[in-house]
Parts: sequence; structure tokens; C-alpha cells
Amino acid sequence: MYPKPIFIKHANQVITLKGSSQQPLAREKMSDLHIIEDGAVWVEDGLIKATGKTADLAAQYQSRLEEAEIIDASGKILLPGLVDPHTHLVYAGSREEEFNMRLNGATYMDIMNNGGGIHATTSMTRKASEEELVQESLIRLDCFLKHGVTTVEAKSGYGLDWDTEHKQLLAAKKADKLHPIDVVPTFMGAHAVPAEYKENPDAFIDLVIEEMLPKVAEEKLAEFNDIFCERGVFTPEQSRKLLEAGKKFGLTPKIHADEIEPYEGAELAAEVGAISADHLLRASDNGMEMMAEKGVIGVLLPGTAFFLMAEAARGRRMIDKGVPVALSTDCNPGSSPTCSMPFMMNLACMHMGLTPAEAITAATINAAHAINRAKEIGSIEQGKKADLLLLNVPNYMQMQYHYGMNHTDTVIKNGEIVVKGGSLCCQR
Ligand SMILES: [Zn+2]
Repeated sequence: MYPKPIFIKHANQVITLKGSSQQPLAREKMSDLHIIEDGAVWVEDGLIKATGKTADLAAQYQSRLEEAEIIDASGKILLPGLVDPHTHLVYAGSREEEFNMRLNGATYMDIMNNGGGIHATTSMTRKASEEELVQESLIRLDCFLKHGVTTVEAKSGYGLDWDTEHKQLLAAKKADKLHPIDVVPTFMGAHAVPAEYKENPDAFIDLVIEEMLPKVAEEKLAEFNDIFCERGVFTPEQSRKLLEAGKKFGLTPKIHADEIEPYEGAELAAEVGAISADHLLRASDNGMEMMAEKGVIGVLLPGTAFFLMAEAARGRRMIDKGVPVALSTDCNPGSSPTCSMPFMMNLACMHMGLTPAEAITAATINAAHAINRAKEIGSIEQGKKADLLLLNVPNYMQMQYHYGMNHTDTVIKNGEIVVKGGSLCCQR
């Protein structure tokens, strides 16, 4: 049952991103926000029923205004709920000690040799119960919601064995059911080479293909199949083999590509028809051009470079070359322990050269395209889910200008008010 209708009126700007559901926005279209000034939205039965000027909608719904919850959005702006298309939501434990070690001069390799890095999270996640993973994920989802995020993708990949990968995917499913945020699952069995397969990563890829993929498909545990293609992790050949195998099980390819050095990951994404290639810090010009041609979305994770104090991906160049760009937190315990999509948007402007308008497109409709949800979410249009974000700023440029702040006032998820005055007000 849905609560009563909601009438949001007098928003300084309603950022609709109208007409963007068919394909991801690229080049100058990324700046086309389709803004309604003094805008209004009528929400009912979990859906957006109408958008327009406040005066027009007030007249249209005049006879029903009394039954609706009225939100006066004067001085504020309304956006589609933010979409995070790349997270490692489900994991156990925390690694602030490594952060401290890094700032005391330790290198990545020192940390790895001390049993840290991804292997630390893997061992903590292996030990955690499914219920513990659900509880940790719910806390992070609350944090996402308070930052205006209404849908997240979530990857497995801290198991590197079937029992743990399975447990992570089940935990993601449970978190999706228990929390207002929609959680879209991705299988990432090939996130790292497990210690047991250090000498023979090919055998691990075969294990993932022969034993894990069929079970993921049979139990319908994921929609996407992801791999970490990077020198010293998995090669482009191994990545191609796994992603092609996943396609046969109906899993759409995604790829962690060209993060640390150029490795033709972007090129591979275009070749296998991946829905997105993610990270891309060292993607080649040729790779970008191939992605643009095939419409592969570049999911950029500015928080990861920021947190590791590395150079950011060349977001400006990708957009200029026609790659549809999306943004994400990469929420994970090692390289980006944050849930703040707004801060990722700030960083995209300051470190990657995106404009404030492009950052909004990248965090809404293009992000929705990157997880195959653009028909339902990512823009404010009649018939779409009522996932809406009301921000306490008078225009969209201020969202990026007053950086590092959470401007969230109200969040509506599936037609229900879940954040009010910046605080959670939903039951779970
Ligand atoms: Zn990742």
C-alpha cells in the first residue's frame, strides 16, 4: 500500500532530464538538464504522475490537493534520486589502520605483506555470517539514503570462494528487501586471485566459469558479471573468457578496467559489449574512442583516486570523445570508504573537469543506464518511479559550489518520504 499522494510545489528548479531513458547521454547532451523553474511534481502510487509548472499542476489537481501531502520546495531544487552504479556494499570489517599506516609512510605492498589489503577484507567477510553482512550493509544503505541515493549496485567479490560469494549475494538480496534503497546485484567472483591460486590464476578463472557462474544464474543471484582486469590480477584474455562465459548465462558484462596502468581494458569492454567499463584512470584514447562508438558507459570513481591520492581519470576527455560518463562512490573498505555521491559529484567537477550539469547527468540517468534501470529511474518523468531528491540549494550549480556538504533535505523513494529535514524518517 502506498501512502497518500505527494504534491511538491514551487521548486526553484526541477531537474527533469526528460527524454533520456532510451540511451545514455553523451557529449553536449550531458548538459541538457531540461529544467522546469517554479516546478511541481505530483506523486501517487509510488510513481511520478505529472510534472510541470506549479501553477499548471495546482490547477490540474485542484480537486485533490486536500488529500495530498504538500511539500513546499521554495528555495530548493528537485533532482531524480541519485543512482550509484558501482559499490562493494556487502563486506565485513573496516581498514582504517591501513589508512593510518599509509599516512605514516607505508606502501601498498607493505600493507599487503602485513596481511592487509583486499585479502584482509576477504578473510573478515569469509568469517562473517550472512546476518552480520546484512546488518553492516543496512547501516551503509542508511548513509547512502541520507546522501540522496535511492538505488545502488552491489558486487560480490570478497569471498573468492563459492560459499562466501553466495553469502554476499544472498546478503545483498536481503538488504534490498529490508531497505528502501533498491540494491542491484553483480557477481564479481574474479575480484582478486585467491592465495590458493596464486601460481595458477587460469585454473581459478575456470573454477569461476564452471562452478560459480552456473549457480549464480540458476539461483538468479545477479544481473551483471564483473572482473578486475589489471596487470598482476587478471589479464585481458582471462577477462574476455569470463565475460563471454557470463553472457551465455544471461549475465551482462561489466569490467574494472585500466585502473592502475593502461591494459586495454576499455578496448575489451567495447569488444565484449560490456554495459560499462569502470575506473579507467589510465584508459587509452583508442579505448575511449572504441567505448564511445559502442556506447559503453564510462563509470568514473573519483573518490578512489582522491582517497589513494592518485591522479584522477580523464573525465573531461572522455566526454569530449563521446563516452557517456556516469559517477559512482566505489564504496569499499580499501580504496573508497564513503557513501557520499554528492561529494563524488564535487570531485568530478574539481578533479576531472566535469561541469555541474554533467555531474548531475552522470549521477542520475547515465548511472541508471549503467545498471540497466533507465526505463524506471534516473529522470523525473511521468510513469517513472517516484525516486526524488530535494536539495537545500537554490540552483543546481550551488550543489557543486558548496562542496563537501550534504545538501539533502528530503528523499522520496517509491513514492514514500524516507528522509525529512536531512534525517531518516523511515522504518526498516
Ligand atoms: Zn570496484
